[in-house]
Formats: sequence, C-alpha cells, structure tokens
Amino acid sequence: MHPRVLAAMAQPLVGHLDPAFIALMEETKGLLRRVFQTENTLTLPISGTGSAGLEACVVNLVEPGDEVVIGVNGVFGTRLVDVATRAGATVVKADAPWGEIVPDDVLAAAIARARRPKVVVLVHAETSTGVWQPLDEASRLAHAAGALFVVDCVTSLGGCPVGIDRLQIDAAYSGTQKCLSCPPGLSPITFGAGAIAALRARTHPVQSWYLDLGMIERYWSEERVYHHTAPISMNYALYEALRLVLEEGLEARFGRHRLNHEALVAGLEALGLEMAVAAPHRLWMLNSVRIPEDVDDAAVRRTLLETEGIEIGGGLGPLKGRTWRIGLMGESSTRVKVLRLLAALERTLPKHGMAVAEGAGVAAGERVYAQADGR
Ligand SMILES: *Cc1c(COP(=O)(O)O)cnc(C)c1O
Repeated sequence: MHPRVLAAMAQPLVGHLDPAFIALMEETKGLLRRVFQTENTLTLPISGTGSAGLEACVVNLVEPGDEVVIGVNGVFGTRLVDVATRAGATVVKADAPWGEIVPDDVLAAAIARARRPKVVVLVHAETSTGVWQPLDEASRLAHAAGALFVVDCVTSLGGCPVGIDRLQIDAAYSGTQKCLSCPPGLSPITFGAGAIAALRARTHPVQSWYLDLGMIERYWSEERVYHHTAPISMNYALYEALRLVLEEGLEARFGRHRLNHEALVAGLEALGLEMAVAAPHRLWMLNSVRIPEDVDDAAVRRTLLETEGIEIGGGLGPLKGRTWRIGLMGESSTRVKVLRLLAALERTLPKHGMAVAEGAGVAAGERVYAQADGR
C-alpha cells in the first residue's frame, strides 16, 4: 500500500449519506471509469472482495436456464463455473490446460456447442497460472453469437491495459488488492449498455439480495436510496488508490509493470530458472516460474519468507509443487524489489540443492534496467 492509502483509511468516518461521502462516491465512479478505460455510467465498487464482483456479474446477468460459456484454464475460471452453476446457468466450458491461454478456436467450439449462449466469460489475467488471455477475437466471437462478453479483470486492472470500451467488453469486475494496491474489500465493476439491457429485461429477481445491482445502483445514483451501508473507510482507500494510479498515469504504470517483469525474467533465466508460461502470454504482474527438479518448493518459499522477508506464492491445482508465482503488483512492482528477490534467490537456491552463478541474476536484471535508462 502507498502510505497515502493507509492514511486515507485512518480519516474520520462520516455517514453513508453525508454530502462529503456522496461527493467522494461521485468522484470515485469517475476515477474508476478512467482506470477501466470506459464511458460506462454504471461503474462502481461492489462491497466485498473480487469474488463479490465476480458473483455480482454472474447473478445479475444470468437467469436460471441461461447458457453461459466460460473459459477454464485456472482457479478463477473454475470458480466462475461454480458460481454460474449455483445461479442456475447451463455452463459450457472452454477448457485449456493450466498455464496456457484459452485458444480462440476452443472458445469458438464451446460457443458453437451452446444453443443460445447469453454470456461468454474469460479471465483476463489468470492469477493462478500467470497467463494473459487475449481478448480481441473472443469479444468478436461472443458478440457474433449474440452473447454478452464478460471479463475478470481482478489482476489486470491497474497493471496492464483492460480497454473496456475498445474491446467492447459488456461487463467486467476487478478487486482492490491486486494492481490497485489497496487493501482487500471492494470490487470495482462496470456494466455497459448491453449488460444493463439484460439486467432490465430479467424475468426472475436477482438470486442475491446483497448483490442486486438494480438496488445497489439506486444508492450509487442521484436517488441515494439506502440499500446497505457502504464500507466508508474502504471507499476512502479506493478513492486515494485510484488517484495515485492516475497521478502516475496509466501508460507509465503499465510501462513500469512491464519493465519490472522483463528485468525479473532476465534475472531468473540467468539463474537457470525457466518461466512456466510461453513468452507471448506472460503476465507482467504475476510471474510463474517452473520449480527445478529436486528443489523443494515449500522449503525455498519458507527460507525466502523467514530469512529474506519475501513472500512468493506456490502453484495451485495441477501446478501445485511445480511452479512458483511471483507477484509484482502495483506498489510492489519496483526495481528495488526485483533486484532484492534476485539476490535473495542467489542466496537461497544453493541452500536447497540448486547451484547458481552468484551475481548472475542481479546482473541480468540490472542490464535490463540500464538499457531502459539508456545507460
Ligand atoms: C484474486 C482474484 C479473484 C478473487 O478475488 P478475491 O479478492 O480473492 O475475492 C478473482 N479473479 C482473479 C483473476 C483473481 O486474481
């Protein structure tokens, strides 16, 4: 967290209908539109973490019996299937191996298997695997089938372009604690005209009372009708975090995430480690690395945490024990952190049976920065 975000959370509380809070709500919607790169008026933070935004998109757009096509190549696609199934959807999966993208032809085949898909959902940045899903052709395929195109932007928002309007994404959700560098607790969502039309045309009430966008919207619009108490301090934090994103500038922020990713990859490869995702589909903010044979996954992560004060993630699902996941999100995507991790790995890996050329990782990372600095 940037210290300004933490300071915002410590500000005195006001009521959820206080004019000062209402002004902050309006500004937050505007800031969110700029970060989502959209003109959508229905853009607001849902109370709850990213999964609340996921569930809000599903339950507001899906009615019992609707067909939903979901790209499944990691934890979050799997979660979407669970949520959509609970909402009464008939789910058609576009499956791909974990660690790979969902290819356009696989998505097209899944859309073709459905009779009248209402919604097509993809995860833009699969945090469980480090895969960056291309969206251009998928958006076209969804719309050609008459479906709404919905995207999970939890990890991508604020770290790489999401381009809601450019890609004609009908609805998207995100979270605060990934590249927005804000504590967990809110889930920004955006709904375009097509998604709003689907919402208004519903014949069944939204399954979740708490996440009913029609009701939440009345509180976040001019009407100001109480629905549930807004988490005041969390909204202070998000407001400040969004201001920081825009002060840096989206392009500069994306460039920073990209550069730190490139330096990290160069360093890891110089140490003899291999990335787990093919080069064109690697996320900048979540770097998946193959764990070398004979190296103890948990022991390395424990030494990094206890001796070096650095936490990296383990693999999930079929990648458990096979990959490490290194987050470089928002405030933590910095040159200092990349170089510190590389130095820490140079000390840690030999303790766990992997010989590395001392200094090679940091030197390779430094070279990437030197080149970017024009040195
Ligand atoms: C983190 C994450 C979520 C869920 O967010 P929570 O804040 O943990 O509820 C959903 N999708 C993706 C891609 C994520 O990375």
